[in-house]
Amino acid sequence: MENKPKAVLLIADGLGDRTIKSLGDKTPLEVSVKPNIDRLATDGECGIMDPIAAGVRAGSDTAHLSILGYDPYRYYTGRGPYEAAGIGMDVMQGDIAFRCNFSTVDSDMTVTDRRAGRIVSGTDQLAAAVDGLEIDGVKVIFKESVAHRGALILRAPGLGADITDTDPHHEGGKILTSTAKDPADLASAKTAAVINKFVRMSYDLLDSHPVNKERAANGLNPANVILPRGAGIGPDMSSFLEKYGLRAACVAETGLINGVAKYVGMKIIEVPTATGGLDSNLIDMAKAIVDALADHDFVLCNVKGADLGGHDNNPQAKIDTIVKLDEMIAYLMANVPPKTYLTLTADHSTPCAVMDHSGDPVPIVFWGEGVRSDRVNKFDERSVTAGGVGRIKGTDVVNIITQLMFVQEKFGA
Ligand code: ZN
Ligand code: ZN
Repeated sequence: MENKPKAVLLIADGLGDRTIKSLGDKTPLEVSVKPNIDRLATDGECGIMDPIAAGVRAGSDTAHLSILGYDPYRYYTGRGPYEAAGIGMDVMQGDIAFRCNFSTVDSDMTVTDRRAGRIVSGTDQLAAAVDGLEIDGVKVIFKESVAHRGALILRAPGLGADITDTDPHHEGGKILTSTAKDPADLASAKTAAVINKFVRMSYDLLDSHPVNKERAANGLNPANVILPRGAGIGPDMSSFLEKYGLRAACVAETGLINGVAKYVGMKIIEVPTATGGLDSNLIDMAKAIVDALADHDFVLCNVKGADLGGHDNNPQAKIDTIVKLDEMIAYLMANVPPKTYLTLTADHSTPCAVMDHSGDPVPIVFWGEGVRSDRVNKFDERSVTAGGVGRIKGTDVVNIITQLMFVQEKFGA
């Protein structure tokens, strides 16, 4: 019924790598057997991309913002707002949001277990004890996440996010007093004062909480304090729909990516078999993408596996993920509606040798009707550099896609 062009942006998390000795000085992409991804490269137009800028080591969140066309230097002040959005909290413009741990402290505020015995149940009741507090006119909104994690929002006019952490980040350290990084920054100073009170109140409310009494009776560390970190201010940014006129959905495996997608107004589509691990069912994710295209113009998808292989220095895990991605691409090429543009890239490199994100650029391919195919017929870090796209930045990606879709306003007459 609809004949509008559509787009799928598939981001293989941490896919880029460096040459590895045990692979004959090749990268995991170079040694993987991936006929469908290579067909994408043969029929499409390839290039190399700096997710944020040349040589910048990107986090997954900042890289996704950039690739969606939002300058992370403007819209990212900390992970908190995206973490909170990712667990379904309504982050409003000007809110100060934090990611939090339930932790264990002694009565002298020394942290003895940053993860409170990796608590798995009862955090909803603990969260309820602090959610809704009001401190110095600032509204406190708290929600538990998985295990020992949660997120906190402070809501009031005139708060700042440029503060130091209370979390000592190691066991045996005392809880720190948060301060504004710049003493002249009164908005952040107010946030710091409220956070210091919040941490103390969380101890007063949680230490004697029935959930913790029961934990103590069972020999488990109590979750008797909440330690916020990663403060960020809810950014004032236009939604993906406002920015590009495209109805967008997201199929992802991690709360962090869902948080970014939710923040820009994308519909979050949950796939129960998308586990965020190496066992994720990528065909189920591909099916969810195809389903989503029925009533969306643009689907963002993030597949996590390759990043895990990189962090673990496990080239084989990366290769296995690439083979699964190849099947996923085959499914998508065969099943997306006509006039769908498919883009495959990564949010950053996670080289096995580095075991973390590096600033190495990542391969990218654009595929679909009318795309000017180049001479590249293999999709890997080195082959794509001969492609027609050249070297681009993350913030160029959606422009290139909307240009192919021909849904862009003309700049000028
Ligand atoms: Zn990533
Ligand atoms: Zn990573």
